Amino acid sequence: MAAKTTVLDNVKRRWQQFIDKDKQYKDIAKVHIELVERMEKQTPKVSPFTVEEEELINRLRSGQPLLEGNEDRIELRYAVALFRDLTEWSGIGDAKRQFKKWGKGLPDAEIENVLRAWLKGDLEPFTRWSVSAGLPQDVLVVLIQYSLLPTLHVYGEALIENKTVLADNWKNGYCPVCGDAPTVAEIRDSERFRYLRCTSCGGDWQFKRIACPTCGNEDHERLESFFIEDSKTGGKSQIDVCEDCKSYMKVSHKLQPSSPEMLIMDDLATTHLDLFAMEKGYYKGGKPEGNVQ
Ligand SMILES: [Zn+2]
Ligand SMILES: [Zn+2]
Repeated sequence: MAAKTTVLDNVKRRWQQFIDKDKQYKDIAKVHIELVERMEKQTPKVSPFTVEEEELINRLRSGQPLLEGNEDRIELRYAVALFRDLTEWSGIGDAKRQFKKWGKGLPDAEIENVLRAWLKGDLEPFTRWSVSAGLPQDVLVVLIQYSLLPTLHVYGEALIENKTVLADNWKNGYCPVCGDAPTVAEIRDSERFRYLRCTSCGGDWQFKRIACPTCGNEDHERLESFFIEDSKTGGKSQIDVCEDCKSYMKVSHKLQPSSPEMLIMDDLATTHLDLFAMEKGYYKGGKPEGNVQ
């Protein structure tokens, strides 16, 4: 009898395909596989809340992300445990020893407090943490996002059971679940639209093919796609850009929506595309404010 294939198996197999073609992927693969192992160890067994269809539709139509205002209803036990686990993750890099030591003396309640404030958009506890412990903010941001991801994904899936309701009522470029900006896009069943994906919660929603998720520009003459061939992997990659706000979006063709773990992988395995876009003068999420031409 064939054993059940887990997300981890799929992640490992996919990385192996990359490594077979280009050894350079070895290091990043190791770091990501370890991340997925830690995520699987702390799989959230929470009982998510749902909302009535009428309320769901109203919220979606008014453009309000579903978790907004509901942050206190999110059970963060598993996110806290994962955060603690990730203070020992090899992906931390040079600051690993510092994080490990700091994590040991950290009470659960304090981690929960910072995570919940983060969800509410209150960055004060986060800043206080990084300043008082002298921790690099960029690493801390990644740890917070990854520790929340599996939990937020469970809530998002429960809230949007009916994908048609979502497709009919949500037309925005930001995530309908948590409100964050999308990280990657997927073209799946139809070339008419893209699915935008959020790496904060695994959110997945349809968006027009000819439109910019960052600024809403729909002028096809001010929107462009680059197609890049990778000589080593043989794969073809796509980057959509907007000339109005100078944002870019990495696009991949998928048969099925990627799991949150695979989403992170899609993002990590395509950093050369980020470099390509930035060299051409595009920015993730658009040109920083105060700098627009
Ligand atoms: Zn999201
Ligand atoms: Zn734009």
